[in-house]
Amino acid sequence: MRSTRSILEPKPPEELPGEGFRKRQIAHWLYRRGARDFDEMTDLPRALRRELAENWRISEFELIQAFPSQDGSVKYLFTLKDGKQTEAVYLPYKDRKTVCLSSQVGCPVGCTFCATGALGFGRNLTPWEILDQLLAIAHHQGIPPTEIRNVVLMGMGEPLLNLDAVSAAVRRMIDKNALGMSPRRITLSTVGIPKGIRRLAEEDLGVKLALSLHAPDDETRKKIIPTAKAYPVEEIMDAVAEYFQKTKRRVTFEYVMLKGINDAPRQAREVARLIKDRRIVAHVNLIPFNPWEGAPVEGTPKAGIRRFAEILENEGIPTTIRWSRGVDVGAACGQLALKETPPAPLRFAPNAPNR
Ligand code: SAH
Ligand code: SF4
Repeated sequence: MRSTRSILEPKPPEELPGEGFRKRQIAHWLYRRGARDFDEMTDLPRALRRELAENWRISEFELIQAFPSQDGSVKYLFTLKDGKQTEAVYLPYKDRKTVCLSSQVGCPVGCTFCATGALGFGRNLTPWEILDQLLAIAHHQGIPPTEIRNVVLMGMGEPLLNLDAVSAAVRRMIDKNALGMSPRRITLSTVGIPKGIRRLAEEDLGVKLALSLHAPDDETRKKIIPTAKAYPVEEIMDAVAEYFQKTKRRVTFEYVMLKGINDAPRQAREVARLIKDRRIVAHVNLIPFNPWEGAPVEGTPKAGIRRFAEILENEGIPTTIRWSRGVDVGAACGQLALKETPPAPLRFAPNAPNR
């Protein structure tokens, strides 16, 4: 088989193949219309379409499987060209359509409560593999890619450990000649790597930051997050404060509620202090633990979660409890673990016609 290059790689329209206005047409087909086959680009001359098909590829995936949840969200399992797999989730809401994208195959961090962490690390995804998750989902949902206005980088992997690729993918998402998304609607979630957070600030992408805090003290954090041994909470919080100062974007703190580990009232007050001391405009998302087979931890019961939220609110920190979606198909936060969960998946070729 001939080797091809990803058509998502060239910067649109200038670096795309073709002469003159043809470049713009190709960009339009790819990013606005969501074409998955060069033959769909019907206003291009046949010879150009043939040339494109010979030298370029649109899809980064060999196989795409979809697992629809009862609540409307859909988990996608992507088999990459090298046989490795990664996942993404489609989350339709009344007023918006969101996708949750992966940045790596598995994750090298290995948090105790996370099924992705238990998988170990496969490899970094390329920018085009990250971007193509969005395009492939739009295609299989039968909507133009531009209808997806919200992206959360909260799938498999730690995005700040693959920042070059993540940043290239995000640039393409916000590029007016590509997806033209607002960076304010792109959220990057990190386990907390101070150097990475500072670099993200320098990159000046304008994306929203979500920090997976999960505990206000190093002792607890180290028990559940291996990177906490290298990066103390105070250092992470300083980097987050810098990010906030630079972007003025409200920061989200994520906090998965684990029974008897991080759910004491004292810990809620400490979380509030960490945020208030640095005058970060923030919002806390309490995430009920999503169980997975073999997990060594348990979730805090509902009443405990509510009490924790109340303490934060009383301290003046806006707090929401984020009930995850897609739990029945293993699509919820921390459940992404490449399992072919029942009901039987719908299988698609990477360029199957729209449904
Ligand atoms: N690596 C990044 C992004 C992916 S994880 C990070 O850790 O932030 C996305 C979110 O899901 C994180 O806040 C993570 O802590 C949370 N999460 C992981 N496992 C979970 C589980 N079993 N239940 C609920 N949330 C979980
Ligand atoms: Fe990796 Fe995030 Fe899961 Fe931790 S929570 S193992 S950093 S994906």
